Amino acid sequence: MACSSIKDVILVEPGREEKRVKIIVLNESKIPMPLSNVEKRCAVTPSSVQRLVKKGAQLHIESGAGLLSGYADKEYVDVGGIVIDDVNSALSTADMLVSVNKPAESQLSVMKKGAIVVGHLDPFFEQPLVESIANKGLTAISVEMIPRSSRAQKMDALSSQASLAGYVMVMQAANYLPSILPMMMTPSGTIKPAKVFIIGAGVAGLQAIATAKRLGANVLAYDTRPVVAEQVESLGGKFLKIDIGETGQTKDGYAKELTDEQKAKQQDAQRDAIADSDIVITTAQLFGRKPPVLISKETLALMKPGSVVVDMAAQSGGNVEGSVAGEVAQVHGVTVIGTGNWSQAVARAATDMYANNIYNLVDEFYDTETNAFGLNLEDDILSGCVIAHNGAITNDMLTNAYKGA
Ligand code: NAD
Repeated sequence: MACSSIKDVILVEPGREEKRVKIIVLNESKIPMPLSNVEKRCAVTPSSVQRLVKKGAQLHIESGAGLLSGYADKEYVDVGGIVIDDVNSALSTADMLVSVNKPAESQLSVMKKGAIVVGHLDPFFEQPLVESIANKGLTAISVEMIPRSSRAQKMDALSSQASLAGYVMVMQAANYLPSILPMMMTPSGTIKPAKVFIIGAGVAGLQAIATAKRLGANVLAYDTRPVVAEQVESLGGKFLKIDIGETGQTKDGYAKELTDEQKAKQQDAQRDAIADSDIVITTAQLFGRKPPVLISKETLALMKPGSVVVDMAAQSGGNVEGSVAGEVAQVHGVTVIGTGNWSQAVARAATDMYANNIYNLVDEFYDTETNAFGLNLEDDILSGCVIAHNGAITNDMLTNAYKGA
């Protein structure tokens, strides 16, 4: 079988050859992860493989890649995928590597110049990795940098995984709470609905509000962006109004960092709401920066024993004092959940959504005439999420962040 420098060439019938983009998918459960976590998600499903193959791609999937999200090797083979054991040899001729997380350095090293690496590359906190990708002449697409535009919504992996995280955090809190979420009126007495307070009403927070409401809880929420009050109320939650002065949001809709005075005002104003809650879920993040600390140990001490706090940001610095990344801690009698990797608790749904995000990204830029991924860096979406190309880091936000600007 002949091989061009860019794509594998498939003999589809005698005398007729067809070029195909060669895409590699890793079994990420084999890649060591922080906090002894085992990655359960996969970048493709049998359904997305089927659609990619139909488009003209050739999918090489490392054996066992889908197992922990509920997909056996055979299901990929049945739709035209090629299951492989020797990833490094496949990587050396690959045009594209699609993954959930960042690949290992040893995997990047064998890839050919010009190949594309797609995944959660965590670029603000992984400068050496991004530099190494650029130095190898690979092209990096960071799914975190996909713009939050209407056109890019179908590729938005941050949103798909955050929505699931919102759901999972409520379910985990409910599991630890020594009570129930809905009101229950029985001959044995009436149980009042649980009080749930959600801090941060972005994608994860809104899904947490919706989930807690569906389970019958009373839901209160707060966000520094006042524009979300209406969305909170439309889901049946109440919005806590706190006057901390000018806050606003960036052009991409992300929260701006508060001043120290504003942070203090917020902590004071939400203290009573926290003390009165059975469950508090913090989802406050600042794009590209450490998340703000929102709940002190003193405030936790005001909560009823057995109350539950979920710190969505525990792994990236924490919204809650005393939360431990990867663990469930007890602080002043309050259960503080900092396990992280939320969407992996529902790995099948997380894989289904992520695989669709990846398919939609490839599909959007797939040039069917040349049968190649079209890297048009003038495009709104690609100019945001292609962070390394042709030996250089191509995203200004990152180059400024790396310079400490
Ligand atoms: P995020 O994960 O960066 O932050 C989560 C939430 O925390 C945000 O709502 C933020 O305002 C809030 N927050 C930050 N500091 C806080 C503090 N001190 N106290 C309370 N809350 C605080 O945000 P996200 O969920 O990724 O969403 C970011 C924005 O992008 C939102 O405006 C969202 O609606 C928008 N978005 C748009 C699209 C689209 O148009 N395609 C898709 C997804 C998200």
